[in-house]
Amino acid sequence: MQLVRQKEKFATKRSGTVCAVLAVLMAGAAASGCAAGEDGRAGGPREPVAGRPGAAAQKDAAAAEARRLKREQAARVAAARKWGLAKMPLAAPAPPAVKPRITTREGFEVEGGETLPPVFTTVPTKERIVFLTMDDGAEKDPELLRMMTELKIPYSAFLSDYVVSDDYGYFKDMQARGVTLNNHTLNHRYLPGLSKEEQRREICGEQDKLEKYFGKRPTLFRPPYGNYNGDTLRVARSCGIKAVPLWAAEAFPDHMEWREWDQDLHPGDIILTHFRGEEDWKGSMADMIRRVMKTVTDKGYAVARLEDYV
Ligand SMILES: [Zn+2]
Repeated sequence: MQLVRQKEKFATKRSGTVCAVLAVLMAGAAASGCAAGEDGRAGGPREPVAGRPGAAAQKDAAAAEARRLKREQAARVAAARKWGLAKMPLAAPAPPAVKPRITTREGFEVEGGETLPPVFTTVPTKERIVFLTMDDGAEKDPELLRMMTELKIPYSAFLSDYVVSDDYGYFKDMQARGVTLNNHTLNHRYLPGLSKEEQRREICGEQDKLEKYFGKRPTLFRPPYGNYNGDTLRVARSCGIKAVPLWAAEAFPDHMEWREWDQDLHPGDIILTHFRGEEDWKGSMADMIRRVMKTVTDKGYAVARLEDYV
């Protein structure tokens, strides 16, 4: 209905028009940041009258915006076709103005009265979104960087220096494309088997490496194999870690593995996958992305950026 009204009046207000255009282009996917009826608010901007100065300029601006959105959507469709996706990925909603409060689900947040970084597998949200995370860093496939950039699918990396150090440049390129590089320890050891000082070297040592080579100390840390103890969280907190995202499902080129009994995705679920090549699993990084995106899209979810929520 709003669409019809917008068509009749044409360009009464930029955001309203953008939403109407988005609604057409995205055909059913949530148009980011568009609230129904926002142009009907009392006290809102007055409608331009034909012939009044500014009305023509507004009309031109709206038409230019519509052309831009159309071009963007055409590029998305072309990218999905080029990379062999079974379906167009759904668009994620705009990130929340305030990040949700995340509490641990495994009992380590408050221990003897101290607050430790929360450990979780799912981000609390009602949106049909999931988060894609990639671990370790052994495989450095240039095709993956191009694919994710062209498809505009967000993901977060959790790097372990022992497999990253032979090519920091690859991950610098990834970072330049908007991916956050997070901590996955220096040497990928089983942390509960280490002393507190050994854990400090593994976790805080990786913070130092990430800062040295990529200019940033991350606030997210994932323990290798998802194994940790109280010392892990204390040490992580001491060198700047704010949260410990684990995962609810794991993606492979030929299947998914689930942590939850219902073998399904849920709003806010974190999906784990790895930087691996064809010698490690049955396919390429691109095959893995095609597989996980099919699962995510078939179930009606969009991929959102973890760092926008955590
Ligand atoms: Zn790992």
